[in-house]
Amino acid sequence: NTILLNDQFIDREQSSVNIEDRGYQFGDGVYEVIRIYSGKMFTGKEHITRLFESAEKIQLTLPFTEDELTENLYKLVEKNKLDTGIIYLQVTRGVSPRQHQFPLDGKAVFTAYTKEVARPEAQMNEGVTAIVADDVRWLRCDIKSLNLLGNLLAKQEAFSQGSFEAILHRDGTVTEGSSSNVFIIKNNTLYTHPATNLILNGITRREILRLCPGIGLEVKEESFTLDELYEADEVFVASTTAEIMPVIKVGAKAVGSSKPGEWSKKLQETFKASIQEQCGE
Ligand code: PMP
Repeated sequence: NTILLNDQFIDREQSSVNIEDRGYQFGDGVYEVIRIYSGKMFTGKEHITRLFESAEKIQLTLPFTEDELTENLYKLVEKNKLDTGIIYLQVTRGVSPRQHQFPLDGKAVFTAYTKEVARPEAQMNEGVTAIVADDVRWLRCDIKSLNLLGNLLAKQEAFSQGSFEAILHRDGTVTEGSSSNVFIIKNNTLYTHPATNLILNGITRREILRLCPGIGLEVKEESFTLDELYEADEVFVASTTAEIMPVIKVGAKAVGSSKPGEWSKKLQETFKASIQEQCGE
């Protein structure tokens, strides 16, 4: 199994982390997860562009261009003969004696590896349950940062209650999931939090918004409350690995008829067609 370290392809067993890497000590870095279907990146350009944007937002300069990175990621997928799975990629501010301020002579450390991950078909067909949790994170959730403790604590709470996801809210306004964006459908209109500093503007989210007009689903990028979440006709969460995941119960409250809704199913079909179009199953 091969990994990518900066621009070098090395054996996974040969890779190690420096104890003074700022990613390791501070979470001082950014990351991406890209879906691979049939050996091809799905919305790869969008993910790679977002990595560069996240890096710029924390004043981290990447030592390669988007095109160079794309080429290396494709080589990595080929070397590992990956068909269906993900590429995980991250970049940290590199190694320096521990101090909060940025090092003057810092050199970014980039790593990427692949992993086989099946599409979660059973869960997508049957739906999952979610809890709600207080969004205690910072105010730059638009950055795909390695600092994920707020997300982890919420996900762990969901997991310990046997749920798939924690739907986060700030003072009763739903923001996003611990590792996904959140959508509701009410009276044939899709609502999702606008792409502000309070959420990560998911690539799956963007793909969904792009596909809605084609199936005649009206979109409102407007935030909604916990009450509106509980009263929604349909609820789903979306992410690179979970795709479009219907939520059939929020806390103790059933959503609709406790089955994935018609619009959610239609979006799943359209999303699958988009995968086929881009990755040619
Ligand atoms: N919000 C958060 C907090 C996430 O961690 C993720 C998944 N990385 C998303 C939204 C969905 O983003 P994407 O569709 O780009 O995977």
